[in-house]
Amino acid sequence: MFKYVYYLSMKLLEDRILKDGIVLAGDVLKIDGFLNHQIDTKLMEEIGKEFYRLFRDTNPDKILTIESSGIAIAYATSVCFDYIPIVFAKKTYSSNSGDDVYSCVEHSYTRNIDYIVQVSKEYLSEGEKVLILDDFLANGDALNCLINICKQANAEPVGCGVTVAKTYQRGIERIRELGYDVQVLAKIKALGEDGTIEIEEQDV
Ligand code: 5GP
Repeated sequence: MFKYVYYLSMKLLEDRILKDGIVLAGDVLKIDGFLNHQIDTKLMEEIGKEFYRLFRDTNPDKILTIESSGIAIAYATSVCFDYIPIVFAKKTYSSNSGDDVYSCVEHSYTRNIDYIVQVSKEYLSEGEKVLILDDFLANGDALNCLINICKQANAEPVGCGVTVAKTYQRGIERIRELGYDVQVLAKIKALGEDGTIEIEEQDV
C-alpha cells in the first residue's frame, strides 16, 4: 500500500517535470512553473507527505533548508511532522558574519557566484536532530553547507532529502562521502541539448 502511494506521488512530480520542465544552458533544469517561482501547492503537499514517509522514523526536532525554494518544501513537510520548526539558511554577499551566526561559503550552481550561507546560533542548538531538505541537488554545495552548519552547532543531521537530483552530477556521491545518504524524489538521468529530459526509474 505504502509503496503504491509512494509510486503515485513520485509519478505526479515526474510527470510535471516532463510536462513543464525547461532545459537551460549550463545543465540547468528550469521548473519555475511549479516549484522555483510559481508554486503548485497541491504538488507541494504531496512532496511533504513523501518526505514524511521517508523520514518519519528519524524523529527530527526541526527542518533545516536554504532560502528561497527550500522553504515551501520544508513547510509542507513540517505540517506532516506535526509542525516542527523550520530554519532556513540565509544567503548573503556580506562577509560580515559576526559571532552570532554559523556560516559557510556556498558556490551557487545556477548563478555561478559564491554566497555566504548563514544561520543564527539562536535557532540551531547542540543535540538537536535536524532533517535537511532542499529543492535541487547538483554538485552538493548547498547540502554540504547545511551539513557543515549543523556540525558547527553540534546538531545532528538525521536525514537529507531533495525534491530533484541530477544524478549524473557529483552531489549524491559527495554527500555520501560525508557519511549521509540523500533521499531523492525525482532523479534526472540526463538533460539533452535538444531540450529532452530523461528521468531515472526508481525502485518502489
Ligand atoms: P548544488 O549546491 O547541489 O550544486 O546545487 C543545488 C542548488 O542549486 C539548489 O539549491 C538549487 O537552487 C540550485 N540548482 C542546481 N541545479 C539546478 C537546476 O538544474 N535547476 C534548478 N532550478 N536549480 C538548480
